[in-house]
Amino acid sequence: MKKISILGSTGSIGTQTLEVVKENINEFEIVGLTCNSNIELILNQIKEFNPKIVCVMNEEKAKELKELISSNIEIVTNVDGLVKVATDRENDIVVTAVVGSIGLVPTYEAIKLGIDIALANKETLVTAGEIIMKEAKKSGSKILPVDSEHSAIFQSLLGNKHKEIDKLILTASGGAFLNKTIEELKNVKPKDALKHPNWEMGRKITIDSATMMNKGLEVIEAKWLFDIDVENIDVVIHPQSIIHSMVQYVDSSVIAQMGLPDMKLPIVFALNYPFRKINEYKRLDLTKIQSLTFYKPDLDKYKPLSLAYRAIKIGGTMPVVLNTANEIYVNKFLNDEIGFLDIANLVEDAMNNHNVIENPSLEDILMLEKILRKKLS
Ligand code: NDP
Ligand code: MG
Repeated sequence: MKKISILGSTGSIGTQTLEVVKENINEFEIVGLTCNSNIELILNQIKEFNPKIVCVMNEEKAKELKELISSNIEIVTNVDGLVKVATDRENDIVVTAVVGSIGLVPTYEAIKLGIDIALANKETLVTAGEIIMKEAKKSGSKILPVDSEHSAIFQSLLGNKHKEIDKLILTASGGAFLNKTIEELKNVKPKDALKHPNWEMGRKITIDSATMMNKGLEVIEAKWLFDIDVENIDVVIHPQSIIHSMVQYVDSSVIAQMGLPDMKLPIVFALNYPFRKINEYKRLDLTKIQSLTFYKPDLDKYKPLSLAYRAIKIGGTMPVVLNTANEIYVNKFLNDEIGFLDIANLVEDAMNNHNVIENPSLEDILMLEKILRKKLS
């Protein structure tokens, strides 16, 4: 039995992970679950999966949940609670499926104990990639990507040597506005941006896909996960989302990983690594797909992609500013407080106003985030 905790079990990745657990109930056991405030859903999950510990981030909601539960399940709250779930000694693997940089501290603490991580929460590596990867090396914790592009690269690297990598090629769907001009983007509304063509995901990442900040964050995630300079990470738009990403080798060979766009595939891979599990999921039929197309991203239209390259090239605390400002402004866009194109412009302003700290500690990063959230909100 592999023992699992899921941070963010009520979200898109969290619920799909629980579906995978349910399909293989004799192989996985749930130790801990967490949510922000959706106690109705987590209550159902508790009944079905019987965890020993549950964190509800929102203190009021945590109290409400306690009153609804008669059993001896431990209910905890706040970041300390997330850390408690993530660092439970019974965990073989922690799935980090919370959204935003709130995932950083619990992921770091689990890694310190050598617990393996199935990493969906890319914001952790964007804000503190160097610290996280160093700690994982020290403790022996394996970081297994759940992000489909990174799972594809991970799989395309198996059996090959790091020094033989020429470059990584990340594919991007282009998001909700692939066929719109910049002019047309001026007046788009959250409901338009939330219509992703290929993937059903949480609200924040769906907006990030429409601006292509998501791909920018993934470039930074790939740099840290695979130890590759960003100059050697390319992005190509591939609207069908069949090729999930590729590795080009020094001999010009390119190895790609393909599959239907279904997040359960990278989740299953991460949870079972190094083994491949037999399943009955729908198979890819290329004769039905017929054509795979590729385009260069327009960096004027998808400005956040170039902001992400700029942030990671500058390094230090600049990616923290990129990520935190993006979290704040995506939220404002979703609340109809700013326009779609303002997200990129305001993130750029925040970057322009920042004095970089080189080699920040975890404390520096957390302090900077706190300051930025006060200043920009
Ligand atoms: P969702 O918005 O669907 O789910 C987020 C989860 O985190 C929910 O369980 C939510 O609880 C919880 N949560 C939200 N805010 C907080 C908070 N402040 N403190 C604690 N918990 C919180 O997100 P996704 O599942 O789409 O994404 C999760 C992560 O995975 C993101 O980092 C995303 O970039 C990454 N990812 C997602 C993919 C996808 O297909 N969805 C693909 C690749 C990566 P509640 O339900 O109570 O609000
Ligand atoms: Mg992705």
